[in-house]
Amino acid sequence: MRRFDAIIIGAGQSGPSLAGRLTAAGMTVALCERKLFGGTCVNTGCTPTKTLIASAHAAHLARRAADFGVLLEGPVRVDMKRAKARADAVVADSRRGVERWLRRMEGCVVFEGHARFESPDRVRVGGELLAAPRVFVNVGGRAFVPDLPGVTEVPFLTNRSMLELDHLPEHLIVVGGSYVGLEFAQMYRRFGAEVTVVEKSPRLIAREDEDISEAIREILAGEGVEVRTSAECISLAPHARGVEVSVNCREGEPTSVGSHVLLAVGRRPNTDDLGLEAAGVETDARGYIKVDEGLSTNVPGVWALGDCNGRGAFTHTAYNDFEIVAANLLDGEQRRVSDRVPAYALYVDPPLGRVGLTEREARSTGRPLLVGSRPMTRVSRAVEKGETQGLMKVVVDAETRRILGAAILGPGGDEAIHGVLDIMSAGVPYDVLERAVPIHPTVSELIPTMLGEMRPAQ
Ligand SMILES: Cc1cc2nc3c(=O)[nH]c(=O)nc-3n(C[C@H](O)[C@H](O)[C@H](O)COP(=O)(O)OP(=O)(O)OC[C@H]3O[C@@H](n4cnc5c(N)ncnc54)[C@H](O)[C@@H]3O)c2cc1C
Repeated sequence: MRRFDAIIIGAGQSGPSLAGRLTAAGMTVALCERKLFGGTCVNTGCTPTKTLIASAHAAHLARRAADFGVLLEGPVRVDMKRAKARADAVVADSRRGVERWLRRMEGCVVFEGHARFESPDRVRVGGELLAAPRVFVNVGGRAFVPDLPGVTEVPFLTNRSMLELDHLPEHLIVVGGSYVGLEFAQMYRRFGAEVTVVEKSPRLIAREDEDISEAIREILAGEGVEVRTSAECISLAPHARGVEVSVNCREGEPTSVGSHVLLAVGRRPNTDDLGLEAAGVETDARGYIKVDEGLSTNVPGVWALGDCNGRGAFTHTAYNDFEIVAANLLDGEQRRVSDRVPAYALYVDPPLGRVGLTEREARSTGRPLLVGSRPMTRVSRAVEKGETQGLMKVVVDAETRRILGAAILGPGGDEAIHGVLDIMSAGVPYDVLERAVPIHPTVSELIPTMLGEMRPAQ
């Protein structure tokens, strides 16, 4: 048995940075990784998708070149092998960087293999038994494969296998009209495939406000993505041309036939094969590890960070989990997971930047509200760039004058939202942002204007 001061399971978005802080504090660390250094974000999530989205954006702009007075001869074609090679190179570079960092880290020993608890302070990885008084679980998640009728009879893709494609599907059916599905849908449409999105809710990304869902639907439909919502009983069956998806929507054809099907209906935590029972670590009904505000589990000496604790589903939340745990353990702080302001982006183009509550969520609090919005057609930077789809909106507590939430769907929306995020994180009233002097011409410059034009919510 090999003894360490700490064991970290998973080299995703929390584990490596935590290893860095713990070893810098003089601890010995065993870091276990069963597959790819860097985890989901680097290998099968953020990095490859955003790199491919950049290729898809280039194709889109090339098709629109004439709108800007630029003449290109002949039809735009995408070399899928080169687009994939570009993404693979960015991923490999990032993955190697994480691995090199860990292997060279003084005080850290890397174990490659599947780690499993044998008791609260013992973990087996391959043939080795490791022991430590502190164990940090950063095992992430994987695509959830729903129990749809016919799912075992057809080949289907997930976010992982989608990224292995080096050719253009003739017709991609995306089951799931939420974050992961919509990014792939627009990307593949721009690469030149026929694309159908099948979503069981009455609208896309149903947790967003209706105006945002509708604007995104318009953007996708405008590019030729077929959107089938209210698909109540989705089932799959083999078909001569690929896969037949029964959508059972209230409107339109009852089935759709695609050459390929991507299942993008959510994620599940990698906690089912971790031996959590041997350690006595509790999970919720969906397998997420239960944690307190400092990300400790019910077992003293065991923490859970990142997607596997169900308190976030993003790279920045996983990284923030590391910051919380490290600050509390090593710096004597009392940081809490509920202190963070929730924020994320959806990388359709134009992107959606989001922070805090939706308008619907804010209304459900019963608080008196001020609401402001502005279409991108009235944002000069968007007009100048020829990208006037989308809108920005903000919701404020009328009594405390604190911003409760905002959405920016438009050019650079993922960046512009940070102005609002920073004000919310600072915990100051919206007036501070309203009185700022933003740069012209930017999308951000209209945020103060929008705040000045807010109206009481009806
Ligand atoms: C298609 C897609 C696009 C995304 N895009 C974005 C985005 O743009 N922005 C964003 O913020 N988030 C994005 N995400 C989400 C983001 O990837 C995750 O939130 C993030 O990777 C979570 O990090 P993590 O450290 O919790 O887990 P992971 O990154 O999943 O890392 C967990 C690691 O643990 C390892 N592991 C698991 N079990 C064991 C075991 N028993 N023994 C040893 N090792 C184990 C795994 O191999 C993995 O390397 C995207 C996700 C997907 C699927």
